[in-house]
Amino acid sequence: MTLFEKIIAGDIPADFVHKDDHVVAFRDIKPVAPTHILIVPRKPIPTLNDIGDEDAPLLGHMFLVARDLAKKEGIAEGGYRAIFNCNSHGGQEVYHIHLHLVGGQKLGNTGWK
Ligand code: 5GP
Repeated sequence: MTLFEKIIAGDIPADFVHKDDHVVAFRDIKPVAPTHILIVPRKPIPTLNDIGDEDAPLLGHMFLVARDLAKKEGIAEGGYRAIFNCNSHGGQEVYHIHLHLVGGQKLGNTGWK
């Protein structure tokens, strides 16, 4: 079971900001900016390399949730980053795909990953 499956199952607590049939979203435990949310599919796909053609609607849904959460967090107009890290060179630590929604301040090119 991945760490994020344990969070989805409720075995590890998290600060959830969204839940639906396909994804959950919760605040990152080590935020790098005032808003740092992880949008995680209930389906435990290890990396972006493992997504199938059939996962296209799920990936699209993750971005729609990011769009809505950005608005809700008040960071839509100021701007933000929506990032997937993949494998070692991408700095991936949890092998269950997740979309980072990061914003709330001007983001530089250093300091994260
Ligand atoms: P990755 O490096 O795989 O792209 O991102 C994993 C993220 O998960 C990191 O930003 C890390 O801070 C976050 N994280 C790791 N463990 C936990 C946890 O137990 N709870 C929460 N909410 N976030 C976690």
